[in-house]
Amino acid sequence: MEILQSIPPLPPSLEIWQQTMSWQPTPSQLDQFQQLYGLILAGNRHMNLTRITEPTEFWEKHLWDSIRPLAFGLSSPQPQDLPLQPWTTDRPLRGLDIGTGGGFPGFPVAFSLGAIYPQLELTLLDSTQKKILFLEEAIATLKLPDIRATVGRAEQIHHQPDYYQQYDFCLIRAVANAEVCVQYAFPFLKPGGLVILYRGRWTQDEEKILNQTLRSLRGNLIWIDAFITPLSQATRHCIYVRKECLPLPVTRSL
Ligand code: SAM
Repeated sequence: MEILQSIPPLPPSLEIWQQTMSWQPTPSQLDQFQQLYGLILAGNRHMNLTRITEPTEFWEKHLWDSIRPLAFGLSSPQPQDLPLQPWTTDRPLRGLDIGTGGGFPGFPVAFSLGAIYPQLELTLLDSTQKKILFLEEAIATLKLPDIRATVGRAEQIHHQPDYYQQYDFCLIRAVANAEVCVQYAFPFLKPGGLVILYRGRWTQDEEKILNQTLRSLRGNLIWIDAFITPLSQATRHCIYVRKECLPLPVTRSL
């Protein structure tokens, strides 16, 4: 993979991380962010990975914005209404980023959450083969054995045995309407799994339609987290949806 000779430094931002999510990256995580930035700038020369390339904007929209919705898993205590019992450090934690594009939010989430959950395994899914080739090269360059990139359309692969009900959580940013996103994600999730929808503005109409869809999918909207981005002061909403744990079928002995 092409290495750019000069990569602009990302803004120093330790205090902002700490103030906004009670977490701050280690020097090696900062190094990973910087390397990822270089790879994205290089990849962007050959394909349209992202229009967000200016260092400050990249920091806010691709790094901070990717990690902020997972802050509950990075710091303690966790919100009481977000029971994370299935998330433990002693067994694999499997995540899927649907429509990952240039690897967002997946890469920054892997860099940050991976330090807390060493058994984190993340799949980056996108329907565009060219982006997947870029992601595979980036994974090899950054030496990330627990991340893999897969090409496919979510709605065409989510019932395949390798994917069906295999994931503890799905992330999905800038791919489709909320109700379409949950329809894409639900088959991938284990019972009790979590979908995290990254949204900008969020309206009551969107919530109503999402709740209607969730009734048929057997899911529950468990948390809506509204927040403002630290530099551009833009509105964000993070929507957390849990797939119900269905009771086991009753078996009768003869
Ligand atoms: N999530 C990234 C981000 O926030 O920077 C990329 C967002 S980009 C606007 C949408 C991406 O979703 C594209 O890379 C596109 O190829 C992918 N995509 C769209 N529909 C998809 C589907 N049904 N299954 C998998 N990927 C899809």
